[in-house]
Amino acid sequence: MNGFRVEKILPVKKKGKIMKNKVLVVDDEKEIRDVLSKALTRIAGFYVDVAENADEALRKIEKEKFDLVLTDLKMPGMDGLQLLSEISKLDPDALTVMMTGHGTIDSALEAMKRGASDYLMKPLNLEEIIVRLQKVLDERRRFVRLRDFATQLEKANQELRRLDAMKSEFVSVASHELRTPLAAIKNAVQLLLSGRTGVINETQTKFLTMAERNINRLTNILNNLLSLSRIESGKMEMDFKELNLKEVIEFVINSLKLDADNKSIQIKRDISDSIPKVYGDSEKVEQILTNLIGNAIKFTPEGGKILITAKPFQTEGEIYKEMVSISIQDNGIGIPQEHLSQIFEKFHQVEGSLHRSTGGTGLGLAITKGLVEAHQGKIWVESELGKGSTFTFTLPISEGERREPSFRTILDREFKRAQEGFSHLTLFLIGVPNHEGRVDDTVLDQLEKTIKKCLCRKADILFKHKKERFIAALCETDLKGAQIIQERIEEEVKKFVPIGLDKALTIRVGRATYPDEALSKRELFGKAKENLRG
Ligand code: ADP
Repeated sequence: MNGFRVEKILPVKKKGKIMKNKVLVVDDEKEIRDVLSKALTRIAGFYVDVAENADEALRKIEKEKFDLVLTDLKMPGMDGLQLLSEISKLDPDALTVMMTGHGTIDSALEAMKRGASDYLMKPLNLEEIIVRLQKVLDERRRFVRLRDFATQLEKANQELRRLDAMKSEFVSVASHELRTPLAAIKNAVQLLLSGRTGVINETQTKFLTMAERNINRLTNILNNLLSLSRIESGKMEMDFKELNLKEVIEFVINSLKLDADNKSIQIKRDISDSIPKVYGDSEKVEQILTNLIGNAIKFTPEGGKILITAKPFQTEGEIYKEMVSISIQDNGIGIPQEHLSQIFEKFHQVEGSLHRSTGGTGLGLAITKGLVEAHQGKIWVESELGKGSTFTFTLPISEGERREPSFRTILDREFKRAQEGFSHLTLFLIGVPNHEGRVDDTVLDQLEKTIKKCLCRKADILFKHKKERFIAALCETDLKGAQIIQERIEEEVKKFVPIGLDKALTIRVGRATYPDEALSKRELFGKAKENLRG
């Protein structure tokens, strides 16, 4: 008995023109080889080759590429399971299907564990064999198509990111360059208006005042564009400190008091004295508050009310568990429901006479969101048309020196980018083992310069973690690229003798790559740190 149960064999219909699949049948029984070879060639339309043992099969696989290897389990010499392991070393892409005939499911499962795509139990049914092999091959085709598609998408995505970076760079340079001549024009107009260059009449004053107002508006737009391009390109510098939120809020309210008074708008606050200190960049937090309170004033009619509240806020977030939430509530014109989801997008403005009459560029909330996110915070809005709006954002509570939010911000941002762009991200941590405590800021600076030489791409990010005394590098590279960069770094640091020290320091490199070795940022950082410690 050759192990076959031949039932009605359905001919396989071929749709369109398909490339012939190459199948290698490995079995020590000649009869099985012959039957399978015939059936798979004639009925399934495969190109079939045969081998009578594992050694012959491996020799053939070395010479020729097969789409699928159909192998028996029990063979003299190397058995089917060993053959599977050898094939996966030789050609990891080859599909394998195991034929088992010895009543146990265990070896079939073991075959699947070793990478087989499917298994077939003897007695074999030719119709079933063909259907199962075709299914395995179809799945592979779909997988390859998807993989190619993902590669194309990744390429397109990279190109888009490159163009986006170029655009941000252009906007940044252009706005920067435009600000200087604009400042000179403003000076000239102000000089004329002051009367120091000669007496000016009423009409001239009127036109010069109009010019000054427009210059201020233009300066504002340029500043906004510059801020946004800095946020988008990740070049915004943050100066994190412990902040007394109550003081910052009072400062901003004071600076906007005149605008509020002009519209008889009352600004109330509900901020407890015991509100914890936050960890933020004071200038940026001021800018966030100025934008939100400024908008509340702008979009609230005469005699309206604004309430500013600050209270502790708990999140389930990965990094900062404890936050403070700050709300700016107004009883102004409100925002239509359909605009709420896009209100933080750049250039988004609500159409309509009430909104339009206030001017603006539609950049304020996009910048505000970027600034809040640079603090690891979140921002959202609740609003009802005609009743008012409440904008709420969160900031992390300060835990003093322990935190280095700027590093976390960068890691967060780059990780998100890699996730969204389906790209790789390798985190390198370069530091001196604990027992060599001679790493001061200047040594760290010199080390940073040395590491910089080892990174090849402009997009690679280098970060000096002063508190924990290590240099972190983030590179968009896979395991292979990471290995090369690590070798380069190790080569360079071997020669690194800091000025003032007489011998080279022992410097260690720890690294981890997403998604190959770590699937979350926490894991990425944890693994790199573990490797740094050795
Ligand atoms: P700008 O105010 O410069 O137009 P923003 O990005 O700050 O740009 O705001 C975008 C739009 O969101 C505004 O044009 C306005 O339509 C709406 N908006 C913002 N804040 C409020 C608010 N407090 N009340 C009503 N509408 C608001």
